[in-house]
Amino acid sequence: MPLLVMKFGGTSVADLARIENAAKKVQAEVERGYDVIVIVSAMSGKTNELVGWVEQTSKLYDAREYDAVVASGENVTAGLMALRLQEMGVPARSWQGWQVPINTTSAHGSARFVSIPRENIDRKFAEGMKVAVVAGFQGISPEGRITTLGRGGSDTTAVAFAAAFGAERCDIYTDVDGVYTTDPRITSKARRLDRIAFEEMLELASLGAKVLQTRSVELAMRYKVKLRVLSSFEETDETSGTLVCDEEDIVESKVVSGVAYSRDEAKMTLIRVADRPGVASAIFGPLAEAGVNVDMIVQNISEKAAGHSGATTDMTFSVPINQVARARKAMEEARASGIISYDELVEDTEVAKVSVVGIGMRSQVGVAARMFAALAAENVNIKVIATSEIKISVLIDRKYMELAVQALHDAFELEKG
Ligand code: ADP
Ligand code: ASP
Ligand code: MG
Repeated sequence: MPLLVMKFGGTSVADLARIENAAKKVQAEVERGYDVIVIVSAMSGKTNELVGWVEQTSKLYDAREYDAVVASGENVTAGLMALRLQEMGVPARSWQGWQVPINTTSAHGSARFVSIPRENIDRKFAEGMKVAVVAGFQGISPEGRITTLGRGGSDTTAVAFAAAFGAERCDIYTDVDGVYTTDPRITSKARRLDRIAFEEMLELASLGAKVLQTRSVELAMRYKVKLRVLSSFEETDETSGTLVCDEEDIVESKVVSGVAYSRDEAKMTLIRVADRPGVASAIFGPLAEAGVNVDMIVQNISEKAAGHSGATTDMTFSVPINQVARARKAMEEARASGIISYDELVEDTEVAKVSVVGIGMRSQVGVAARMFAALAAENVNIKVIATSEIKISVLIDRKYMELAVQALHDAFELEKG
């Protein structure tokens, strides 16, 4: 039997009516002759509520218990979806991660897949089951504890199942009808793309475009999964949505294909760090051990400062805003134990990151200049800059984030096809 993976995100299963709507889309594929693996998210808002409960209970929580709590949202939806399909006469059953089993690492809160054995689900398909409804976002560690994959992780569950089961396609149903040049919530000029290259989607996702989880794009690229993003709120067919594909399969390509943003960033600066060989490793080692995701890094030129015997430097880095407390603790502990020495730790929690992405940048000069000019024209001050082969990112005051995205969308004429 040909097999499809269909993933429904939070808004697509937000209530019983939405679950029924999604179930009808699944039924239609079964009637077309497919076996289907359905991956479900928690009902919209549910995961945030569960995370909130954990944080209110314990500030520096035990990550294993965090996972036990937040994985539960998907379990409810999986059971309800299986029930709804059964009511429609479609042979279906639900699977929690541990039942498959979805084996992951024990990195709680950001676990990675180790293996997805097919036997249990294949046996049920052989017995006549048409739909396996699998709870997204979760798995089980070698220690037998429940794990989660990081926010947005159901996308990755979907792609991993598509790879493991050799699915004909992996359809990601969401509340927008595809991948846009930027988040359509920020500007009505955003344009839907028929196709986007894996590399570009990977950058957009990792820079904040949450339409797909970064890891899901990585996996799709590695295992050559045919990945599509489409709307669960509309009638859809084989041609709907955006196909994420190889660069070679894209005819038109602009210098910049999209603008991404990440709202919840923070900038931390260690003032007057005693500068010596190994200082960067002494700072970022403890941060990594504390599980802090450092993104942009700037080290200033070393100077001789008053009151210091040797040279000192300022080290600035950005972290997700919810990791500031963790990062501060790691730095204070490293200072207390003499691993590093600095005068002050300054935090700026009012920043956001805005990035432009495009494979065309590889061969085109002047993209950075055009970006900075567009921001300057709007009087947006740039605090940190980072570039790579196909992206340029800037850290700016959060209050200018929307303005910056719109200005860049205009500057690179992204509304034009
Ligand atoms: P789901 O719950 O279905 O997983 P998400 O909220 O995680 O949905 O992702 C869909 C959202 O991603 C859209 O509603 C949109 O606001 C946002 N988004 C951000 N950037 C983009 C983009 N470039 N194209 C499409 N959607 C985007
Ligand atoms: N429910 C989880 C989240 O909100 C996983 C997902 O929806 O992809 O992050
Ligand atoms: Mg999502």
